[in-house]
Amino acid sequence: MADLRDLYQEVILEHSKAPRNYRELKAADHKAEGFNPLCGDRFTVFLEMDGDSIKDIGFQGSGCAISKASASMMTQSLKGKTRKEAEELFNRFHGVVTGQSAENGDEPALGKLAVFSGVSEFPTRVKCATLAWHTLTAALEGTQEAISTE
Ligand code: ZN
Repeated sequence: MADLRDLYQEVILEHSKAPRNYRELKAADHKAEGFNPLCGDRFTVFLEMDGDSIKDIGFQGSGCAISKASASMMTQSLKGKTRKEAEELFNRFHGVVTGQSAENGDEPALGKLAVFSGVSEFPTRVKCATLAWHTLTAALEGTQEAISTE
């Protein structure tokens, strides 16, 4: 099990150093900013929807390794997914990181996101792991067009 945990840490570190989809989407039609005052993590999530599907997703901001890796892997997992699929994935993810899912980290639908199962042992880091997801939810619920300063 220790080896597996090392692997999980490696994946999280790798994503935090080289986050995927780390960019502002110029064509974003939904966006939201999320802040985790406990840790200082702050991210903006950008969405470009195609009807009910997530056509493109990006994020920017700063935070600890867990929050950044979580945002990075979230964007990878959600491209092409519908709004409902995104919500279901967040529910599963939330269950695993809070330790509420019976099979800790053994949730097949989560795929790579299962690397965050170790977070359930550190309650203060749960907010880091879920920040991007909460921000995504806010972005999906928001109907405002992205504000342009140009
Ligand atoms: Zn954090």
